[in-house]
Amino acid sequence: MLGDRTVNVFTDEIMLGHDPKVDLPFVPSRVEKRVRHILKDLDFKWSYPEHPGRLTAITEYLEKNPIPGVEFKSGGSATYNQLARVHTASYLDHVFSLSGQSAWLDADTTAVSPNSINAALAAAGNAIAAVESVIKGECQSAFALVRPPGHHAEPVRARGFCIFNNVAVAAAHALARLGCERVLIVDWDAHHGNGTQDIFWADPDVLFFDTHCAAPFYPGSGHLEEVGAGFGEGYTINVPLPESAGDVAFEKVYRDILVPAAEHFKPDLVLVSAGFDPHRNDLALNLTYDGFKVITRIVQDIAEQHCQGRLAFILEGGYNLTSLAKGVHAVLEVLSGGNVPEVFETGVKEAEYAAEFHRSAFSDDE
Ligand SMILES: [Zn+2]
Repeated sequence: MLGDRTVNVFTDEIMLGHDPKVDLPFVPSRVEKRVRHILKDLDFKWSYPEHPGRLTAITEYLEKNPIPGVEFKSGGSATYNQLARVHTASYLDHVFSLSGQSAWLDADTTAVSPNSINAALAAAGNAIAAVESVIKGECQSAFALVRPPGHHAEPVRARGFCIFNNVAVAAAHALARLGCERVLIVDWDAHHGNGTQDIFWADPDVLFFDTHCAAPFYPGSGHLEEVGAGFGEGYTINVPLPESAGDVAFEKVYRDILVPAAEHFKPDLVLVSAGFDPHRNDLALNLTYDGFKVITRIVQDIAEQHCQGRLAFILEGGYNLTSLAKGVHAVLEVLSGGNVPEVFETGVKEAEYAAEFHRSAFSDDE
């Protein structure tokens, strides 16, 4: 029942300060010139899609539609040392040097505004706070509503709207400081979590499981054959899916691949890189709110079975504001103890209803 379980939701208004404007005069650089050149050839006005309105859309919807058992909290900022577990010193020094400025960090769309570094530190810090709260047993599960997102950020590089790899920072913190030995990261964002994969590529302490829209969809990685290397071989699992993949396909993937993988790995903490761009509104995959509920319950059951329910979600992408807000709400309902519906292939329920409606028209029976 809703409210049977407590869910701590971590967020902070500091993260609204990350607000790159493509029209601002940016720090001159080769990358900036290249981005301007690309934008010049487009016949529509491009604005930064990963904007503060994403977070306010979610929090306003949750305020208007409260869920029993959900409590709002704020975490602090990540420290340099916490970030340095997954990013190089030269990368961190470069990012910190941009504090107070507007600049492009990477050719494929990552930019900063004057308050972005503080926002990014809060994003990683709130991800850590979410993990700490489930490890301490303050709640059954937690959700870090953060931005900028993190899963494309590599050890040495910002990519795809991501500056610090929030989920990786949280996982590394759990391993280094919170007594965890095996962390399962489930990434269901529509885009492949290339950064998280890179960071834990050779690490057998982190099982990385990623469902995403198949290449050449951005960022183009995440092929089946990418399974990790060295000691980490077998600890990366990629499931590329076609755009048409919906609720039934997702349920099958999570039950047939993730559940046995988790059974083998026996995690002591489960993290979810939760993007909401697999929702059909974002046109990359074909998931509905019911589909999000089903995969949330599967992940929740894995956490229950292997690690006393220790489960923390960290927000990644999702750009349609309606499905972003309602998607987070659907996940939180399940985390707080709500029911999970049965899922069908798109249109099958409607087809059955229509068949029933028309059945008598062609029958001689009264
Ligand atoms: Zn995404």
